[in-house]
Amino acid sequence: MGEPVATVVGGGIAGLASAVALAREGWRTTVLERRSDAVEVGAGVAVPGNGVAALHALGFDGGRVARIGYTTTATGFRDNRGRRILLIPDDRADVRPVVTLLGLHRQRLHAALLQVAREAGVAVAAGAHVTGVRPGTPGGARAEVEWRSGGTAHLSEADLVVGADGMWSAVRAALFPGVRPRYSGSTSWRAVVPDTARDGRLAEYWGPEGEFGSLRVSASELYWYGYVRAPQGAVVGDEHAVARARFSDWAPEIGELIADTAPDRLMRHDVYHLPGGLPSYVRGRVAMVGDAAHAALPTMGQGAATALEDGVSLGRLAGGREAHGHGLGRALAEFDAVRRPRCRAIAAQAVLMARLGADLGGGWRQAVRNSALRLVPGGALVRAGASVAGWTPPPAPARPWSSSHSASLR
Ligand SMILES: Cc1cc2nc3c(=O)[nH]c(=O)nc-3n(C[C@H](O)[C@H](O)[C@H](O)COP(=O)(O)OP(=O)(O)OC[C@H]3O[C@@H](n4cnc5c(N)ncnc54)[C@H](O)[C@@H]3O)c2cc1C
Repeated sequence: MGEPVATVVGGGIAGLASAVALAREGWRTTVLERRSDAVEVGAGVAVPGNGVAALHALGFDGGRVARIGYTTTATGFRDNRGRRILLIPDDRADVRPVVTLLGLHRQRLHAALLQVAREAGVAVAAGAHVTGVRPGTPGGARAEVEWRSGGTAHLSEADLVVGADGMWSAVRAALFPGVRPRYSGSTSWRAVVPDTARDGRLAEYWGPEGEFGSLRVSASELYWYGYVRAPQGAVVGDEHAVARARFSDWAPEIGELIADTAPDRLMRHDVYHLPGGLPSYVRGRVAMVGDAAHAALPTMGQGAATALEDGVSLGRLAGGREAHGHGLGRALAEFDAVRRPRCRAIAAQAVLMARLGADLGGGWRQAVRNSALRLVPGGALVRAGASVAGWTPPPAPARPWSSSHSASLR
């Protein structure tokens, strides 16, 4: 059997993770990435334990993880004035593994994934804009991907296509035209600021119709986000001044952090999600991963981690030799069965967290929520988070392949 061919649409976190995992399992893998530069925009990202487990499964050893990120913990929730609502005892030995996070600058995560992909033999085509996909049939017609580069149209055939082109996925639009992103009702300022002095643990503040959080992403940088209710597409003149004003009556450390942010370092994006996600993560020879399949609200901080999990799972499940040809259909069905319930549940938890936190209105609602949550022991929250953070990858396919084994699975 010849080397199977995978085409990955999108070179973000999910696409590069999938490409690395597939290349490691013997797929000849090409990533088609629309951007022509290799620089990933963005600020910081918090990757919980499940995402770190996925990075390890992709071949990131402890040294590489330490070079790109900053290991810290989540400390729970405060009200907008900085008073305790629900604090996590992050120094307790049974709690620490569940609340340990890797703070990362997105550009560093992206650059590291790109480097690991190249080391694994992945070809990355930059400036390759995918415009159409025909899904093919496992065991039958191969999939086809149409793409344009520098004014030239191309058509690639593949045994497996990975739809990893994010929130506004062209692959999703072609294969699941009825599923479209929905505005969350919130917009988010984000920035990375130089800092060596502040507590780098993830601190989250809930106030009327908003949330603020900060965490360290390197020894000398702190990431912050300010997530607030706002009309879709709202245009404001001076983003820095508006952000300062929006949080002016919140805890003083928040105003100081925004004031320490250079205005040209501040970005803001309206936040969208895919309520419920796709009805299937598979169509023909196409597997959908990351935001293209299950974009969740950022209130669980799981978008990057689940994108990494998707890549690892796809590589492991589609990686076996028996998964090529007729067996690919079974492998993709298993991918869907493993990934969809988990990502759906995490997205549903993110919606609940938004209702309880960032989306909650002012006045009595804040007082009632805060009083109720002050009665909840931090350990209960940690137990609830353990099943998400405690993810382990599917087992690696057994090696070496025996021909009788692969024949018996066709
Ligand atoms: C405000 C905010 C805060 C967040 N905070 C966190 C956090 O703290 N922790 C966390 O885990 N997650 C967070 N997330 C979510 C996380 O950023 C995403 O879930 C994650 O980036 C998804 O990765 P992806 O690879 O699926 O998509 P993307 O990172 O969007 O990558 C998609 C790639 O596909 C390319 N592409 C698009 N269309 C095409 C095309 N037609 N042809 C070729 N290429 C194409 C794009 O250029 C891009 O490179 C946050 C999101 C938001 C909006």
